[in-house]
Amino acid sequence: MREELKEKIAAQAKKIGLAVILVGDDPASQVYVRNKIKACEEVGIFSFAYRLPQDAKESELLELIASLNEDERVHGILVQLPLPKHIDTDRALKAILPEKDVDGFGAENLGLLAKGTPATVSCTPFGVMKLLEREGISVAGKRAVVLGRSNIVGKPMAMLLLNADATVTVCHSKTKMLKEICAEADILISAIGKANFVTEDMIKENAVVIDVGINRNENGKLCGDVHPSAANKASYLTPVPGGVGPMTITMLLWNTYYAAVRRENVISR
Ligand code: NDP
Repeated sequence: MREELKEKIAAQAKKIGLAVILVGDDPASQVYVRNKIKACEEVGIFSFAYRLPQDAKESELLELIASLNEDERVHGILVQLPLPKHIDTDRALKAILPEKDVDGFGAENLGLLAKGTPATVSCTPFGVMKLLEREGISVAGKRAVVLGRSNIVGKPMAMLLLNADATVTVCHSKTKMLKEICAEADILISAIGKANFVTEDMIKENAVVIDVGINRNENGKLCGDVHPSAANKASYLTPVPGGVGPMTITMLLWNTYYAAVRRENVISR
């Protein structure tokens, strides 16, 4: 998909720009931002990186976003989360123009997704849908179970699956009979952030299992939510690292490209 995007971007008359804002010095966020900027370079998207100190005022961030909203060179604006506690995340996300909200976290884009007419879809769930689509895995009529109900993964994931005609169950920390519900899933998507939580006994024979989680196991090694033994039963299982993570970045590039195309009116989606 990145190769395809690279060709499309090269064919554009105008440079496509993504602004990435990092507030503070969270080590994981620094890695994510670096990876996003590198991916932009690889496909020919021009990136503008802004680093604000940990104690930056909320007003500074809002002023920066306001100036980027006006900046014609910038087609997408990304504020890396989590923000320091003294900054209101909702207020920051709300400040981004919906047409530049390439993370799809803003209320307008989430609302459109809920209506079934999405404009920009948040990158992780969108990446999961593309993984399924590109592997030729049909969703319509399937029993899909989503573990996790966050606004950035679980909820938009469930809405996308529903829009694609799956029968969707969303599980969370208060769900009862979670194991039994998981064992009914044709498509099981885990986004809870607990190492090796999903075990073989929770998986239906030949289920498609998508592991969104990024965790450290007891040895400090990167791992997902799904125990490797799941591979004994699943027909597909995405690896961590190297599965949903790279797809998330790909969809950020995709969203930025289409934000630019819509803005420049070059082609319609
Ligand atoms: P959140 O912490 O915001 O949400 C976690 C969700 O999991 C909540 O809905 C919570 O339920 C639920 N949950 C927690 N524990 C359990 C449990 N024991 N049983 C059932 N449900 C449970 O996390 P995010 O959605 O932001 O991220 C989820 C995971 O995905 C993380 O590991 C994160 O690092 C990863 N991630 C990966 C990305 C990628 O690119 N691959 C991108 C984004 C996230 P409740 O609502 O009841 O508290």
